[in-house]
Amino acid sequence: MGGFARSRSGGSARQGRAIVAGMTGERDADCLFCKIATGEIPGDVVHETESTLAFRDIEPQAPTHILVIPRSHQPNVATLAAKEPETALALLDAVAAVAEQEGLEAGYRVVFNTGAQAHQSVFHVHAHLLGGRTMGWPPG
Ligand code: AMP
Repeated sequence: MGGFARSRSGGSARQGRAIVAGMTGERDADCLFCKIATGEIPGDVVHETESTLAFRDIEPQAPTHILVIPRSHQPNVATLAAKEPETALALLDAVAAVAEQEGLEAGYRVVFNTGAQAHQSVFHVHAHLLGGRTMGWPPG
């Protein structure tokens, strides 16, 4: 991994700043999360590394709901693991770092919706990091 890891606090949305230097793989010009990764669309960024970005979900399902993405475009976690295993590991490391940063030591849930039937709506792999409340099981 190497490079940098940077946490952000205060919750202000980043406006239009491109971090092209951090791009490690392909980019899809029509992808919403690629645009957030480059700063073309603002996101409420809370953490970033050379290969990952974490930002608050625009429609939170828990007191803490953060999306952690690779900067490079892969449609889902299976293709990320198959094609960019180092980035997949970096993504999981980033999830752990954000959970610690957000004070989720009581517990948290990490969800990769994969495929339309599982409610994936943005086809750029993202981990939902959910915490701050008691979670139900089974999930809906
Ligand atoms: P999924 O349904 O698993 O693909 O999750 C996509 C998530 O992206 C949803 O939870 C949305 O609320 C979230 N989302 C969509 N647009 C934005 C945005 N501009 N900024 C932050 N989160 C977003």
